[in-house]
Amino acid sequence: MSRFIATSAIRGAHSVIADAEATLKDALQKMGPETPVAFTSTSYFLPVIFGFTGQKITKLGDMPAALQHARSLLPPVPRDNLWLPYLGETLDAGVATLFAEEIIEGIRFAKGQQPEQYNGHKLNGPIDDVQMRSWGIQMVDGRMPGFAAIVGAAKSNEVAVEIVRQLQSRGQLVFLCSQSNGRSIIDQLRESGVDLGYDTFTVTFGTDTYSAVYALGYATRAALSFGNVAAGDIRKILLYNKFRCFAFVLALGQVDDIKYATAAGAINYGFPVIADTVIPNILPSGVTRYAHVVSLPFDDLPGKDDLEKAQRLVQRCVEIRGIKIKIAQVPIPVAYGPAFEGEVVRRENLRIEYGGKGSMCFELLTTKSLDEVEDGKITVVGPEIDAVPDGAKVPLAIVIEVAGRKMQTDFEPVLERQIHHFVNGAEGIQHIGQRDIAWLRFSKSAVNKGFKLKHLGDILHANYHNHFGAIVDKVQITLYSDPEKVKQLMGKARAIYSERNIRTAGLTDEAVDTFYSCSLCQSFAPTHICVINPERVGLCGAYNWLDCRASYEINPTGPNKPVAKGKVIDAAKGEWEGVNKFVYENTQMKTDRFTLYSIMDQPMTTCGCCECVMVLLPECNGFMLVSRDDYGMTPCGMTFTTLMGTVGGGLQTPGMMGVGKYYLLSKKFISSEGGIRRVVWLSKNLKESMEEELKAVCEREGVPDLLDKIGDGSVATTVEDLLPLLEKKGHPALTMAPLI
Ligand code: SF4
Ligand code: ZN
Repeated sequence: MSRFIATSAIRGAHSVIADAEATLKDALQKMGPETPVAFTSTSYFLPVIFGFTGQKITKLGDMPAALQHARSLLPPVPRDNLWLPYLGETLDAGVATLFAEEIIEGIRFAKGQQPEQYNGHKLNGPIDDVQMRSWGIQMVDGRMPGFAAIVGAAKSNEVAVEIVRQLQSRGQLVFLCSQSNGRSIIDQLRESGVDLGYDTFTVTFGTDTYSAVYALGYATRAALSFGNVAAGDIRKILLYNKFRCFAFVLALGQVDDIKYATAAGAINYGFPVIADTVIPNILPSGVTRYAHVVSLPFDDLPGKDDLEKAQRLVQRCVEIRGIKIKIAQVPIPVAYGPAFEGEVVRRENLRIEYGGKGSMCFELLTTKSLDEVEDGKITVVGPEIDAVPDGAKVPLAIVIEVAGRKMQTDFEPVLERQIHHFVNGAEGIQHIGQRDIAWLRFSKSAVNKGFKLKHLGDILHANYHNHFGAIVDKVQITLYSDPEKVKQLMGKARAIYSERNIRTAGLTDEAVDTFYSCSLCQSFAPTHICVINPERVGLCGAYNWLDCRASYEINPTGPNKPVAKGKVIDAAKGEWEGVNKFVYENTQMKTDRFTLYSIMDQPMTTCGCCECVMVLLPECNGFMLVSRDDYGMTPCGMTFTTLMGTVGGGLQTPGMMGVGKYYLLSKKFISSEGGIRRVVWLSKNLKESMEEELKAVCEREGVPDLLDKIGDGSVATTVEDLLPLLEKKGHPALTMAPLI
């Protein structure tokens, strides 16, 4: 153990605790002990303190106890010549530091100073629970291995951008905080025009080192929610992170005492600290299994220029933390990875557009026989990008032909829908829509780096092999940019789409004897299982029956298994012997019956990633439905996030369940309770975004004016406000058979 680091970290811890004590004393005097304290949108209180102690801090008056605990962990500052043989005291000082930092941040929230305003921008502050959930599946299946918490500022703006790009293309979340010599990496990225935000996997915490505690708060919450660990069971929380969350701290620029102290906190979680300056190393030894602190002085890194050094730095970080990257290597001239999926190509940076308003663009994937497809053949018919002027709008057809012994025509739409996800992974390329409403935007920066139309083919070819290798043996792609050709082929594509529509519409629960399960969420909700039937999507909205069937073909030992329906027990409620048996065996025997069409009697279990939650409103004799992207209050007295905390852990709760939003359109939508007529309140954004489809359903169900009678957040957020509105409009639920 380096004396130097121990001394600095412990000295830093003393200073942070003293700061927290003074700040708390002042806040208690000025605001009083009852002043509420909460981070943005989390139900895990001050998460590090909650994880370590189980203590729920909700007001200033709860803080002194936690801070005293922190002080009690604090070792005295070692005399400079004292040798500390173990990491123990430094680690304790690190924990004490995290407590104190979380308290200071909590007080800043109580004072309304957080999230921080900085240089005219609002920083993100802590990550909210909804966002954490939505990253959940990617974290669990390994596409997002973990996070890099970057503290300080890089050697130059270019280096900052390159480091972040390298991390993004590996699927790592990037947390940004603190400063070095008055500069923050947040400034460097902003000045370079990098899009910061959840969509690009980059989160701005704050401009001082204290805000780095949000990274550990995130890690703690991940263990609590995905690792199914109880608050206070800190050993398990730390082990979960050590083995499951591939995170590290990257300190750019000078490391001061407070950074050392905070880093010591991170080491508790098994997260190594890597610095780009000269500091003492703490390498693997008899006591420790792997490196804790590694110094990689930037200028000493191999590489012909700073960009190569930056790439090398990230590569070394990834090796030190032992991260296995699951992302396809795609042979294209721009970066590629899930972090670029949410990227928007703005008008100023637009080089060329395919499709969109006033133009045409479609994509079509079909099956051919093995001898009709030449694997890897990519053909461009019509002008390439260099032949087209800046800002032009060009028609495009992406025609993919696949062949494989296990390929089936039913899988075509499943594979075709992946185009969006695959193409969006390229930096500077934006893909919107699907089928004949597809629309692509290429940025100037991507095209300047050499990105061409042909590269779309490379992306698709590599990804179909990587993700669907079990059913697809050969893939060839033709990209038509010749307007005449596109027009000519469009008719043929539309005929195929409508054939598919007819086939899917005809796909009913009665028509099949096998449903599919999905157990993907069991890693964080071990007693949850989704049963997916043709007329009901999984509650996350991401998987339908056809997807699950394809997924089973691709990977028979994966998360989707066939569920034989077996003998029918109750056709109206949707209960089958085979389903019950499967559910019992696959929920650790916690749930022994599932009905597929009822919410009141043995409904499906709910996990944390549902698109919407339905809740019984007894006074209204109906249900409300709130969607994940609705942050407002609802008539059941809880927001979406709070509801998730109640039902989200794999529980079966009559009167409450998570659903995918497209289930609303199904003929089997709570058909046992009377279907859509029972919906009395619906999140406004759902009502608006699905207006056409919902109207058609109301029509189909014989209540054409129903949508107008359903309340939303703009007219009522309490039952007291909602009920009179329902009465006034004559909502049908009020006269239906009583639900309870
Ligand atoms: Fe989770 Fe169900 Fe979605 Fe599968 S279908 S990912 S189990 S919510
Ligand atoms: Zn889930």
